Amino acid sequence: MPEQRTSRGTLVIDTEKCKGCELCVAACPPNVLEMSTAVNDMGYRYPELNPGCTGCTACQMVCPDFVFAVYRLTG
Ligand code: SF4
Ligand code: SF4
Repeated sequence: MPEQRTSRGTLVIDTEKCKGCELCVAACPPNVLEMSTAVNDMGYRYPELNPGCTGCTACQMVCPDFVFAVYRLTG
């Protein structure tokens, strides 16, 4: 995995809606989502974004709890 990774997309993660199912982590093609060590108010770990997001929206499509908003970066 290259050390310097360009991000072509970014996410807003509504961590308080997350139920910790980890479907998004498995669904992310570049594998840039990682579960937190901290927990939200419901007691669930939630995903955190590492550099290298492509903006593909796979996480948004798979998440049953509408946690993600995906933004494509331009330029
Ligand atoms: S938009 Fe795609 S690349 Fe970015 S975190 Fe979600 S699944 Fe991964
Ligand atoms: S798919 Fe949604 S509910 Fe499941 S861990 Fe990811 S963000 Fe949380």
